[in-house]
Amino acid sequence: MANPSIGGEIERLIQLLARLPGLGPRSARRAALHLIKRREQLMAPLAAALAEAAAAVKVCSVCGNVDTQDPCAICRDPARDPAILVVVEDVGDLWALERAAATRGRYHVLGGVLSPLDGIGPEDLNIATLMTRAREDGVAEVVLAMNATVEGQTTAHYITDQIAGAGAKVTRLAHGVPVGGELDYLDDGTLTAAMRSRTPF
Ligand SMILES: [Zn+2]
Repeated sequence: MANPSIGGEIERLIQLLARLPGLGPRSARRAALHLIKRREQLMAPLAAALAEAAAAVKVCSVCGNVDTQDPCAICRDPARDPAILVVVEDVGDLWALERAAATRGRYHVLGGVLSPLDGIGPEDLNIATLMTRAREDGVAEVVLAMNATVEGQTTAHYITDQIAGAGAKVTRLAHGVPVGGELDYLDDGTLTAAMRSRTPF
């Protein structure tokens, strides 16, 4: 709801902030007030950083990652193992795997998951380019690092069917007990998945 006692520019700032994930109208107003109170120290540098990032950001034409160069730093890194292709739903998942230094492989960002109810089909995702990359010489393993959701697993099954016969081995992340997790606190689905995918000790 627009507040007539607030200037148009500030109202617009609040409305734009409210569109960020995790921020509703109330927290957007708080964030706007915080920025206004710290105009020199925070608001001006943030505005400059946003403008610079908006001008510099590129989507990698090879893997779908975001960077300021195309191809991205990961695709250009000669130390990366070209035999392993890790498929993720979104850039946030790539960032999570990179933070954990979980793989030295290269990535492929799908840009979402298959969701017939939302009208999202294979042609809406970076699946065609994945098929081409999976068939490239030297790719030995395609790791499906999808979320453990219904849509994530549906997408993984679809990709597995499409890649069949390409020569590369298809693997997926293990499902089960989280590191440091206690069995008593796990939901039934996680516990069942952990039992089903048990490994030799
Ligand atoms: Zn890339």
